[in-house]
Amino acid sequence: MHFSALPLRVLVASAAIYCISGSSVVVAQDHVSVQQARIQAIVDDLTARLAIADAVHVSIVPSNRLLMSVEPAELTFELKVEDGWADGLNDTELKAAVAHELGHVWIFTHHPFLQTEQLANEVAMRLVSPNVLAQLYEKVWKHTNVKGDLARFLGPEVARGLASLEAVPASPEASHVP
Ligand SMILES: [Zn+2]
Repeated sequence: MHFSALPLRVLVASAAIYCISGSSVVVAQDHVSVQQARIQAIVDDLTARLAIADAVHVSIVPSNRLLMSVEPAELTFELKVEDGWADGLNDTELKAAVAHELGHVWIFTHHPFLQTEQLANEVAMRLVSPNVLAQLYEKVWKHTNVKGDLARFLGPEVARGLASLEAVPASPEASHVP
């Protein structure tokens, strides 16, 4: 009697484990499609605004050394985003990140031999402000443990402009905002 209950208990326990792992797989897939849809919506909006005719497809990949990167595929472009990276970005930062990658797409389709980070950001800055790009680079560098030079990415003039903004003390009106 005592031992006959054991197989049933084992069966119940393994069924519970199966359910837990079964549902966590579903959650993970959901999470990937939520990220994919969030980024794809921004991509579709910004490609239209940059007059990029080529299709750009977002895919969420387990890891990407650059966190986010774009590659030409057959007749399209593929934007590969590391799983979870977009979760740490607010909508404005994500828009800036996408705008930068679409900057590379724009260069690919207009001046393929001029591909640089600074030029990709010049295209991005048609749609997003340089301070959001600077904020995004801070996050990227913190994540990758690398300290990059903002002047190399945004151009010396823009980087100087941002540095001088930081040096200006807050205006009296600003300090009265609750
Ligand atoms: Zn880039």
